[in-house]
Amino acid sequence: MSERNIQVEIRRKEFTPREYLLPGRFNLTLKFEALVPGSSYIFSGAIPEQLPEAKNFYDGIDKLKRRILSGEKLHLEEETKRLLNEVYALKQKFKKSTNFPKLLNSYFIPGSSIKGAVRSSIEYKLKPTKVGDSFISYSCYIAESSFLDKLFAKNHLTFWGDDISYFRFSCSVPKVCVVCDLFGTQSLASRVSFSDALLTSPTSTSLEFLKDLNIEAVKPNSKFNLRVDAINLNFVELGLLFLGFEIFSRSPILIGSFKYRYNPKVTKKLYRDRFSFGLLKFNLVDFNEFISSELPKMSTNELVEKAKEELLSSELSNFIDYNKGVIS
Ligand SMILES: [Zn+2]
Repeated sequence: MSERNIQVEIRRKEFTPREYLLPGRFNLTLKFEALVPGSSYIFSGAIPEQLPEAKNFYDGIDKLKRRILSGEKLHLEEETKRLLNEVYALKQKFKKSTNFPKLLNSYFIPGSSIKGAVRSSIEYKLKPTKVGDSFISYSCYIAESSFLDKLFAKNHLTFWGDDISYFRFSCSVPKVCVVCDLFGTQSLASRVSFSDALLTSPTSTSLEFLKDLNIEAVKPNSKFNLRVDAINLNFVELGLLFLGFEIFSRSPILIGSFKYRYNPKVTKKLYRDRFSFGLLKFNLVDFNEFISSELPKMSTNELVEKAKEELLSSELSNFIDYNKGVIS
């Protein structure tokens, strides 16, 4: 059996209610500052997965994958032709934007992009771990669609590691993995909401049109603000959220386009010989509790430390690869 065919058993439990506050849990507003390191540019363009046509295509891939896994005999040549036609149609429809997203006078990175990056990072870190003869993970893949990307995206695998290509079926209610329980899944609302990240450093010094790539990018050393609201949290979940933001490691996370093409973990060839792309380093600058009153008075550092401690001593911790995705 090749590694790609390894199927992972996902640990699931009944989802946490989100309509009312549970005893012992808390609601938080988290305020982050994000810095583009001096060694990196950022470009956040249009996201093809958000086009309805792309969703149909990816759903088609999911169906095909299930049929293959169930052992159904398929005319693969026919299926491949059909899929290639769909890819071509999709390519025609997808008009790549060359500008950095902007609303009125504010440049921003869509909250959905950051939420997606943080979520996948947590999914990957909750890696398949060998127990006896099977592999176990505490996280499914919300986007099984990334199956296709992973098969073909060599750089993605180089960065995250081969084990991210093991099959992990998405959850469906009522039993869900910890990541779906926090971020939501089909028929289950998310308990975390991300604002867009607004550029806070001056526009005049933060944007640059890169002729060779034909894009408007945000320059090194620029800054963004982001707000995340989370409800019915416990400290282990807060720990997972901080893990996805790389708050513990103080590493940047990866956002937007070209993030694997110009990345020292993937290739020796950097942009203009010295720049990475897509690095964004988050720092928790403030937080406050709302509606609930569970937390004692504490500093942001104490909040981070407490979440880290509880995550490390949880049953989850043995199934976390803390270093996965960390950029030194
Ligand atoms: Zn799940």
